[in-house]
Amino acid sequence: MSLKINIHHIRQNKSGQITDQFTILPQELNLPEPKDTWRPLRFEFTCTNAGDLYVLTGKLSSRIAQQCSRCLAPVVIPLDVDVHEEFSRLPGLEDEDIHHFYGDEIDIAEVLRENVILNLPAKTLCSPDCRGLCPYCGADINHAPCDCKPQSGDPRMAVLEKLISK
Ligand SMILES: [Zn+2]
Ligand SMILES: [Zn+2]
Repeated sequence: MSLKINIHHIRQNKSGQITDQFTILPQELNLPEPKDTWRPLRFEFTCTNAGDLYVLTGKLSSRIAQQCSRCLAPVVIPLDVDVHEEFSRLPGLEDEDIHHFYGDEIDIAEVLRENVILNLPAKTLCSPDCRGLCPYCGADINHAPCDCKPQSGDPRMAVLEKLISK
């Protein structure tokens, strides 16, 4: 499957529009694996002939299974990205926000990939106040406190103390 929009039949028709949707497999966009597990992505879009430009607007949505970065619990996060991109066949348009294309087909794979990557959360948490894993024994202290000493001081010191007491 190719992620291309064929604009042939709106080329001569200023303000002509193409409305369609794609179902996209994550590997088609080279999305990060295997830490993240992706559902197929859905992209509903309209492509409009705006004269010198073709304007692509749409909504890209999926769900991603990740790990909480504190306690490693599985977390499913929704991904909903509003896409707005401009394309042109005119080589003279010197604007870095405008993507160039040739012929009748706009390949949107790279543009969609960028939209996804820019909207991935920098840090995934199962809940904003996740307490994470005990730095001493690795137990998940969201569920039950462990038997380690009260959480004081520097975990690195605790490792030292353990070594000394042996
Ligand atoms: Zn967590
Ligand atoms: Zn512990």
